[in-house]
Amino acid sequence: MKKVTCPNCGNYGSPPTVEESAKAFGIEEDQNIGAFRMRGQIEGRPIWICNQCDAGLWIKFFGKPKLIMGDVLQGLKNDWESGTGSKF
Ligand SMILES: [Zn+2]
Repeated sequence: MKKVTCPNCGNYGSPPTVEESAKAFGIEEDQNIGAFRMRGQIEGRPIWICNQCDAGLWIKFFGKPKLIMGDVLQGLKNDWESGTGSKF
């Protein structure tokens, strides 16, 4: 997984792989793995949440990640928490 920089706070790193997330999921706080955590997706591209400032990043194939905040981020949070029953 490529590394990205959070456009909001400059946090730099990569999220855990899907396998690592699955392993940690429900067992330990997966929020502490890496600089970002994966939380759902939009149009098939993953959404990462910055572990430092809690901004959402929409990771695209090309170009810079798109910052997701406000209502859209709140919507993702609601979907995640109602869909998985775990903390966003
Ligand atoms: Zn950040």
